[in-house]
Formats: sequence, C-alpha cells, structure tokens
Amino acid sequence: MQDREMRVYWEMRCDENHGWELIDDEGLDYPPDALLRCPLGHEAVTVTRQPATELAVVTVEPAARVVDSATGRIGLERQYFIVVSNLATGEATRAVVAVSEREAPQQVQRLLGRTYSKAAEMLNGRR
Ligand SMILES: [Zn+2]
Repeated sequence: MQDREMRVYWEMRCDENHGWELIDDEGLDYPPDALLRCPLGHEAVTVTRQPATELAVVTVEPAARVVDSATGRIGLERQYFIVVSNLATGEATRAVVAVSEREAPQQVQRLLGRTYSKAAEMLNGRR
C-alpha cells in the first residue's frame, strides 16, 4: 500500500465566480500557471486541493484472448473480469474468476458505492 495520494482534484474559482478544475494524477504541488486562469481569462482567487475518496472504481475487463495464434481462435469470449481500484492509492484487485455478459452488470451494481477495501473483499469473497 502506498501512502501518497494519487488522484487529486484542484478546484479553482475567479472573482467573477467562474469555477473550473484540474484532475491531477501526478501529485502536483500546485496547478500549472496556465490553469490558474478561468476560460474567460480571469485570475484564480481560490485554489482548493481535494483528494479523491476511498470509493472503488469498478471496471469490466474482457477476459477474451487468442488461445491459438495459428487459427486465431478466441477463448473466453463474452466473459469478463471485474476489477476494482482505488483512485486515492492506485491499488487494484482483479476477480479470480471471469463472469458472463449477463452477470457482469450485476457484479458492478453490487460493488458501486463501496469503499475500495470493501469492494476488494467482496470481489473474491462471498459477501
Ligand atoms: Zn472567470
């Protein structure tokens, strides 16, 4: 586990009350100068750093792969791995078993709104 936060949202606002943001996955110390002006050119008067939450990102990854390169035959067609990840730390956990096209959306629904650690536990557990 990493201590460093990965995803950070920088929220800027000018005197004319225009709001804009930068999505930062690089751990910037501060937004670059070019982003310190609103789209209409006003200078930012507030810059707020907002770290991502621990909520899980849920991804549906195709399990399909070329099982015979001579014939191009594909295996595990229409099967999917569910992957959960943590924007705040960059950690990720992949399901051990692939699920069908019908099961994948049910799995996603079950995991949305969970913290990363809970979703990772549910992914390969029975809860
Ligand atoms: Zn403005």
